[in-house]
Amino acid sequence: YVAKKERNTCKLYSPSMNDVPKKELMLENSMFKALEEEQFTLFYQPKIDVATGRIYGAEALIRWRHPDFGMVSPLEFIPLAEKTGFIIPLGEWVLRKACMQISEWERMGLPLLSVSVNMSMIQFQQKQIVHTIERAIAAAGIRPEQIELEITESIFMDNPEHTLKILHELQQLGVKLSLDDFGTGYSSLSYLQNIPLHTLKLDKSFISDIVSDFKKQMIYKSVIVIAHHLNLKVVTEGVETEDEMSIIREHNCDAVQGYIYSPPVPAAKFAQIYTEHRATGS
Ligand code: C2E
Ligand code: MG
Ligand code: MG
Ligand code: MG
Repeated sequence: YVAKKERNTCKLYSPSMNDVPKKELMLENSMFKALEEEQFTLFYQPKIDVATGRIYGAEALIRWRHPDFGMVSPLEFIPLAEKTGFIIPLGEWVLRKACMQISEWERMGLPLLSVSVNMSMIQFQQKQIVHTIERAIAAAGIRPEQIELEITESIFMDNPEHTLKILHELQQLGVKLSLDDFGTGYSSLSYLQNIPLHTLKLDKSFISDIVSDFKKQMIYKSVIVIAHHLNLKVVTEGVETEDEMSIIREHNCDAVQGYIYSPPVPAAKFAQIYTEHRATGS
């Protein structure tokens, strides 16, 4: 075993750790401190109603301002946090922060109908998850229907009965549930039957390259029809071009998120965009 000096901490490295990239280890080891030192932050991406062109909400997306690596993507550190279990305190922080942000915006005269928070499957293995969510909402003094929890099919991999019970409790609580990344992985229509869902989020892969691909358009159109028959609101993610927007309008998708309107931005920037948008209506 080789002891290695890294900043002020001394860590033991076992031989098997040699395979793990250094950055990954460094991220894994500095998460706890990062949370204490407020290196994590939430960015917000506007959610836009297709029919009216209005912002009706936002999706909260976590960022890590790392002192050495700069802005680290959640795609890099969320899987690590899930592996170590750190996602539990981190996920709770995200929930509390998003709820507080909603109440702060409300005080500023910027009421939002719906703020989405991404949930990890690990959080749903926790017995107290409903209580944790309830407390975050109560502490911020917001209404449950202002929070939309984004879940993926992965939450059903471990103990589906337990997960479904929790989802029904959350529905009782009054928060909305949306199924994220639909169209990737093992998307199954059975999820749409069984989960008390409010929204279906179609992954970016549904819409990218759709313009020249007739079959893709037919699949996109049909999924929206099915979702609407099941009383679901449909959001298309990752919209980047005006051509994509015209197909989205043609097939009556309800809402969009994408760089065509705005990337995820810091809370202050979001407030500015939303304020200007409310004043000018565009
Ligand atoms: P997601 O929930 O599917 O979020 C959508 C991702 O697409 C975001 O990446 C967003 O920045 C990106 N995006 C939005 N519009 C466009 C577009 O027009 N073009 C392209 N190419 N990309 C677009 P981001 O912020 O890097 O987040 C990646 C994933 O990390 C999220 O995917 C989500 O699964 C996860 N994540 C983010 N924040 C959290 C969190 O607080 N908790 C948990 N558990 N997961 C999170
Ligand atoms: Mg999401
Ligand atoms: Mg998604
Ligand atoms: Mg996702």
